[in-house]
Amino acid sequence: MITLNKVYIDGAFVTPHGTDTFDLISPVDNTISGTVTLGDEEDVRLAVAAAKRAFTTFSKTTKEERIAILQKMHDAIAARRQEFIQVMVEEYGGTLQFCTRSADYALDNITSAINTLWQYDLVRVVGQSQVQMTPVGVAGIITPWNSSNGFITGKLSAAIAAGCTAVIKPSEMSARQTQLMMECLHEAALPAGVVNIVNGLGAVVGAEIVAHPDIAKISFTGSTVVGKYIAREAAGTLKRITLELGGKSPNILLDDADLNTAVPMAVAAAFMNSGQACIAGTRLLVHESKVEEVEVLLKAAVEQIKTGRSAEDGTVVGPMVNRKQYERVRAYIKSGIEEGATLLTGGLESMQGLEEGNFVRPTVFTNVTNNMRIAREEIFGPVLCVITYKDDDDAIAIANDTTYGLQAYVNGKDKQRIVNIARQLNAGRVMINCLKHDPEAPFGGFKQSGIGREFGIFGLESYLEPKTILE
Ligand code: NAD
Repeated sequence: MITLNKVYIDGAFVTPHGTDTFDLISPVDNTISGTVTLGDEEDVRLAVAAAKRAFTTFSKTTKEERIAILQKMHDAIAARRQEFIQVMVEEYGGTLQFCTRSADYALDNITSAINTLWQYDLVRVVGQSQVQMTPVGVAGIITPWNSSNGFITGKLSAAIAAGCTAVIKPSEMSARQTQLMMECLHEAALPAGVVNIVNGLGAVVGAEIVAHPDIAKISFTGSTVVGKYIAREAAGTLKRITLELGGKSPNILLDDADLNTAVPMAVAAAFMNSGQACIAGTRLLVHESKVEEVEVLLKAAVEQIKTGRSAEDGTVVGPMVNRKQYERVRAYIKSGIEEGATLLTGGLESMQGLEEGNFVRPTVFTNVTNNMRIAREEIFGPVLCVITYKDDDDAIAIANDTTYGLQAYVNGKDKQRIVNIARQLNAGRVMINCLKHDPEAPFGGFKQSGIGREFGIFGLESYLEPKTILE
């Protein structure tokens, strides 16, 4: 049994003031593998005090000093890359292929922050003034379970690049991954107090971070519901906020798309991270003349997907993170059936030999209309909805008919036509005939998918306040 009973405050592993514990449960078979002791409000207060003390010195560091710190952080994590992959597979149930990408993504985030900082002018002349880009203060960083360490390095490296110190609250379901991250940050010998990590529940540790007057900025990735709560609470002290929230991303297959490449890509976009991805392309918009052909290809492609134990090579869809998420995804599948969508493949039947775990069959619904719950709400599981459209304008209207706006995908041959469509989509990022990530370009949501941007210059500036000096 694994026992995790430390938080990381002021450069040291300390026993938390909080005494409640949380069971670590394997998503593969729901056995308990260990416990984590949860911090409480007092732990947050100690962490914030340490970060505030450290900020006095750290905010005055030079670019070169911050880059040296980021490089040490990168190297300490890189040295344990294999452990990061293994722990994520075991704890979270992510597939080997996804967890490998996630570990590399976590490292790339730091490299990208280094590159951005090198090129960025922290002091510049604007009009007759000198403008100094100054660190905003202590950052509160709150992250979800679906790629824990990637989110931590993305936010933390931007904060450090800006000269901010941080208090981090990862998901309690990611405690083993968090432990590894704490060890790496400790090995990197960052100045005490620059990074503090408190395990704990959202309503306790998260809420205290959001309310604390000495936190200047919150960077949050998670659900839209909690994002709205944070926006309301943060207003009390006018904290700066970056919110990376949910999505219901459309994937438009144009009538000239090469279906032999576009359909497998649509499957990969929908079922990435076992469907537990904010950017998953979960609404597949198909021209009415192509729907029969697409359905044949889709059914064949999805039924070939290896679903099962995450650690096995080639698994594409692993278990849902916990029982609650498993039940939630199944409830959406039931709702799709009840609303009259057609089940093309997948469904509620349990998977032979995997009944003890949180496995959901990769599921595709056809004959979906955009007003059905399965088309409107974020399911966060391997469920894809096929919706037909008549022409490009109709496709754009359906794509934009959502409260979300995180990502969109367009597949087709005519570049000019696609760019014209992309221009009209209300989404923070549009993928044209590809599935990629650009670590230096802004990432974030339109509408209820969030506020603000991460990565590159846009991400760095979200931790900086411009100060105008006039003589
Ligand atoms: P969640 O909102 O339940 O939790 C996210 C984090 O917030 C956790 O650490 C949680 O403990 C904390 N939290 C919960 N209540 C809180 C409160 N009252 N005050 C402060 N913190 C609180 O989300 P989740 O279930 O962990 O993650 C899945 C969600 O995250 C999905 O909606 C998904 O779309 C979203 N997500 C968005 C992005 C993005 O970049 N836009 C990326 C990944 C996940």
